[in-house]
Amino acid sequence: MTIPASASAQTLPATSPVEPDRQAPGFYRYKVGDLLITAVNDGVGRRPIDGFIRNAELDDVQGALDAAFLPRDNITIPFTTLVIDRGGKLTLIDTGNGDSGAPTSGLWMANFRAAGFDPAAVETVVISHFHGDHINGLRLKDGTAVFPSAEVLVPEAEWAFWMDDAKMAAAPDGMKGAFQNVRRVFGPIAGDVKQFKADSEVVPNVTAVAAYGHTPGHTVFAVTAGEGRLMVMSDTTNHPALFVRNPEWQAIFDMDGDMARETRKRLLDMAASEKMQVAFYHAPFPATGHIARDGDGFAFVPVAWSPII
Ligand SMILES: [Zn+2]
Repeated sequence: MTIPASASAQTLPATSPVEPDRQAPGFYRYKVGDLLITAVNDGVGRRPIDGFIRNAELDDVQGALDAAFLPRDNITIPFTTLVIDRGGKLTLIDTGNGDSGAPTSGLWMANFRAAGFDPAAVETVVISHFHGDHINGLRLKDGTAVFPSAEVLVPEAEWAFWMDDAKMAAAPDGMKGAFQNVRRVFGPIAGDVKQFKADSEVVPNVTAVAAYGHTPGHTVFAVTAGEGRLMVMSDTTNHPALFVRNPEWQAIFDMDGDMARETRKRLLDMAASEKMQVAFYHAPFPATGHIARDGDGFAFVPVAWSPII
C-alpha cells in the first residue's frame, strides 16, 4: 500500500529517536518494596582474557566462556550504576567512568538523562570503592564537578587507604596512577566528603556492608524497603559467567585476592540461601537477578525484562 506523502509526514517523526546502529538508551527500572531503582548503564570495556584471572589455567577460563556462549579471547565488561529515587530525591550508587574510560564507555550521562534525570538534582552520591570505573563519573577530566549539589559519601576504610600518602609512596609503580586518580577526583572536595562506617545506614533504606578484599574498603549495600531487599554486590564479582560460576577465581583487579575470594563466597552463599535479589556493577545489563547454587559454584540468574515496574 502507498502512503500519501502528507500522511507520512504527519505520522512519522522527522528523525527516529533511536539511531539505527545504536541500542535504545540503557536504563532499566525496578522496584525494591515501594522504592524505585533505576539501573543506568555506562557502556562496556573490553580486555584480553589471557592474564585476566590470576589463579586459573587459560583452558579452564576459556571453558567457562564457552559454557556461557561468550567469545574465548576477550571479555566484555559492562558498567552499571544504580539510581534510587525517593520522591524526587536522587541517590546514586557509584558514578561510572565519566570521560576517563574506554571509548566503548562514557554513555552514562546520556542514559541518565534519557531516564528523565537531571545531574543537578542528585542529592547524594554513595561510592562502593575507589577504582576509576566507579568514581570518575564524579569529575570530568577538565575538573568539572558533575553533581554540583550532591553530598558525596565514601567508605571510611577506602578513604583511609587511598588518601594515605605513605601508602601511595609505598605502592608499586603500576598502582600509583590509581592513587593519583583518587586525589584528582576527591582532592577538590576532600573537606566535604562524608565517610561512613561499615554496618551503618548511609542514607534511608541503604546500609553499608563491609566486603573487603577487592579493595581495602570495598563495600556492598543492602537496600531494604518493606518486604523488598536488594543486595548491591558492587565488585564482589567481576563478570558473573566467570566469577559467580567460579568464586575461587581471582581477577587481577582483586587487590587482596584471598580476602576477596572469601568475601565473594560468603556473599554469594548468603544471596543463594536467602534467595535475595542482587545487583552487580559488572554483570550484563540490567545487571540484576538472583544467585542459584550450581555444582561447586553458583549461577547468576538474570531478571527477565519486564514492561511492568
Ligand atoms: Zn569495577
